Amino acid sequence: MPIIKAAVCHEFGSPLVIEDVQLAAPRDGEVEVTLDAVAICHSDISYAEGAWGGFLPAVYGHEAAGVISAVGDNVQGFAEGDSVVVTLIRSCGSCPSCAGGVPTLCETPYDAINGPLKTTDGAPLMQAMACGAFAERVVVDQRQIVKIPNEIAKDVAALISCGVITGVGAAVNAAKLRAGEDVVVIGAGGVGLNAIQGARIAGARRIVAVDLSEEKLEIAKEFGATHTVLGRLDAPWKASYKALGGRGADVVLVTVGAIPAYEQATRYLGVGGRMVMIGMPHSGAKASYEPVIMAAIGQGMIGSKMGDVVIQRDIPWMVDLYQQGRLKLDELISGRWSLEDINAAIADTKTGSARRNVILFDR
Ligand SMILES: [Zn+2]
Ligand SMILES: [Zn+2]
Repeated sequence: MPIIKAAVCHEFGSPLVIEDVQLAAPRDGEVEVTLDAVAICHSDISYAEGAWGGFLPAVYGHEAAGVISAVGDNVQGFAEGDSVVVTLIRSCGSCPSCAGGVPTLCETPYDAINGPLKTTDGAPLMQAMACGAFAERVVVDQRQIVKIPNEIAKDVAALISCGVITGVGAAVNAAKLRAGEDVVVIGAGGVGLNAIQGARIAGARRIVAVDLSEEKLEIAKEFGATHTVLGRLDAPWKASYKALGGRGADVVLVTVGAIPAYEQATRYLGVGGRMVMIGMPHSGAKASYEPVIMAAIGQGMIGSKMGDVVIQRDIPWMVDLYQQGRLKLDELISGRWSLEDINAAIADTKTGSARRNVILFDR
């Protein structure tokens, strides 16, 4: 099997190790993509820290873009040389969720431990999140990729495949935001900024960004927040009521995994409002609510994974909006790094100040 370079996690909480690994040729329905860029997402960090468990050794990384370098049997609509974004949404196309139009919730398990990756001595190596994109090349299912115009820079395109679809999709698909509704977005990090611009694109009347960092709130305004609230205030939801003319929001999008943020989220919600849960706390973490209030005033809670996107439908329109200047992507990148420096890039992301750090591969 061909040898590629990858950043491998051997032990939770330890630095990733750059080493040679084996990557199998694409099987039926699969393609090989030679990567130009992969962004570092908080999910990669949570996995590498052991927050969600999982098999080791593993290769993380799932927010990627590159060029198709090999095509397996029964692949339709893709050819060598196509520029694509690679997503972690591996869907079978025929289970009840896929058939029902929600491939992000595909019910057919994927055996990532016996996927295309192996160590150089032939031992199993987990292709985490069905991507394993902290590596020079990936082999993924054709349903995980979407073609993009060649002229879009790959570092920018890579962001679309996770943070952008998750945030924009949560506002547009999961919340089913209607023009004129009031929105609160809790967390102005990578996903939060995209939820804010998703709300703007969907025609929200007022968009209140809530974050613990004044610096992030300033950035939130660039992405479309009409009002900002410092989450460190006492009862910060009162400032949100004020911004929304004395009432709660129609939609609250929770984009951070912190339990206090989840517990406060319903306080921002108005009568008949709905809360969309996007941020991913560690396994086992619990939040509590008063069901009587939610029942009495008709509030709802919706879990949203990957923005409920259908990538073949949603990524092309996001690309168009980017090219028209209506979706900000360049502004989401805070740093560019080489694969060798991935641990430094991860450390920078963990400080919380960064937007997205992107690994660029030499060709
Ligand atoms: Zn991600
Ligand atoms: Zn499925």
